[in-house]
Amino acid sequence: MLTLKQWLLHGRVARRWSFGGRVAKYFFGLGLLLAAVQVWASPGVELNAAEREYLQTLGPVSLCIDPDWVPFETLNARGEHEGIAADLLRLAAERGGVQLQLHKTRNWEASLAASKAGACQMLSFLNQSPERDAWLIFTRPLFTDVNVLISREEHPFVVDLSAFAGSSLALPVGTSIEERVRRDYPALRIIHTDSEAQALALVSERKADLTMRSLTVAAYTIKKEGWFNLKIAGQVQGYDNLLRVGVSKDQPLLRDILDKAIATITPAELNQIVNRHVSISVVAATDYRLLLQVFVVFLVISLTSLFWVVKLRRVNRQLQVKSQTDALTGLANRDALDSRFAQFLEQARRYKRPLTVMMLDIDHFKRVNDELGHQSGDQVLREFAALLCNCARGCDFLGRWGGEEFLLLCPETSLAQAVTFAERICARSRSHVFATKRSQTLSIGVAELGPDDTMDSLIQRADAGLYEAKHLGRDRVCSA
Ligand code: GH3
Ligand code: MG
Ligand code: MG
Repeated sequence: MLTLKQWLLHGRVARRWSFGGRVAKYFFGLGLLLAAVQVWASPGVELNAAEREYLQTLGPVSLCIDPDWVPFETLNARGEHEGIAADLLRLAAERGGVQLQLHKTRNWEASLAASKAGACQMLSFLNQSPERDAWLIFTRPLFTDVNVLISREEHPFVVDLSAFAGSSLALPVGTSIEERVRRDYPALRIIHTDSEAQALALVSERKADLTMRSLTVAAYTIKKEGWFNLKIAGQVQGYDNLLRVGVSKDQPLLRDILDKAIATITPAELNQIVNRHVSISVVAATDYRLLLQVFVVFLVISLTSLFWVVKLRRVNRQLQVKSQTDALTGLANRDALDSRFAQFLEQARRYKRPLTVMMLDIDHFKRVNDELGHQSGDQVLREFAALLCNCARGCDFLGRWGGEEFLLLCPETSLAQAVTFAERICARSRSHVFATKRSQTLSIGVAELGPDDTMDSLIQRADAGLYEAKHLGRDRVCSA
């Protein structure tokens, strides 16, 4: 048989091994060396003979905890003991050579009951109190934390708690604080809650005046739950938490071993553990909340902006259309006619194409107003607009020039074609049955764009044609 020493030092086997085997051997040796260094470097717990003997017969030690005391301890989603107390206890147990076995309970009250009944030999993280001395012995403190009073923003600062006789103090069931408060401040009214968070919630919701919690737990919970209407209103002297491990009275050696192990935990190790559970997780929780708030604000601003952009665009479009439309007839108004006229004129000149304009005027329209009223006049104007719209061809552009006069722009149309077209419009008007049951006729002046024409001169010539048509007895077309 080859000893490990022979295997490592003489490498007799190695000669039969490949290069890979030699590398594996090297790493195995290195691993053993590192393990040895670690054992040598870890703080040792000096146990006496009785303790060593006790440990040999000791099986797993059952441990009861508070399943709802974040960040000190809790049962996580996988049912594991987690938090500051969990890490400190694990470290102490490991150094003392004690194997822990979690005895799960519903809540802290049930853990106390289980411990009292002997169902678990250790209680994780608690203050020593005369009542608890009845069935427990305690290790040295694993962790020290002050107790603070928490109230709402508007509550005065508490210097002396006895000055607040009759005030209500919310406290979770089964805490040593309650034991002490009942003794020291009997005039306070205690409201029991099921959890730490509920005690803070009662204060936040004005159902209790104060609560007293460990600074670490209070700071953690206030931030995590976002109870920013709460403040730390004072510190009560002599109410510091000296959190120890409670051990069944019949296990003094277990307590001694744990005590020695706890003594090896350095302040740096303690800080590291506390930071792991308080700073990092609290900051993460706050950041998520902030991130969500920023996101929601951003989303609201974006949606509001989008809403207004869409709305303004629609309003702008409506205003644009309105500014170009005659309100009574729905035809293009004078502005729209002007700009389209300029466009047609430019195209006609550039491509040397014909362009004619027609000025159309309703004959004796004043009579309609005078005899039937202004509203009938409006109705006739609307009917004329519709009739002219029907007559106009696809390339024409029709608008209301003003009063009872309309302008029809006819690109690609010679004077002769325009006159024929205008006569057809006159005929259509003549035969149209209006709502007034009267016949209405039109006079039309037509002019074709000449080489020296401007917009004004062309309109003037169409107007001259119209004037002539009126002069010759109306209901006709004249060109100029
Ligand atoms: P002519 O045959 O010479 O064109 O005679 P006319 O009565 O049609 O012309 P005149 O210029 O004497 O009268 C036009 C009338 O049109 C006068 C004005 O009160 C009326 N009018 C102008 N705009 C409107 C309108 O928007 N609604 C109504 N109901 N009447 C209007
Ligand atoms: Mg007129
Ligand atoms: Mg008229």
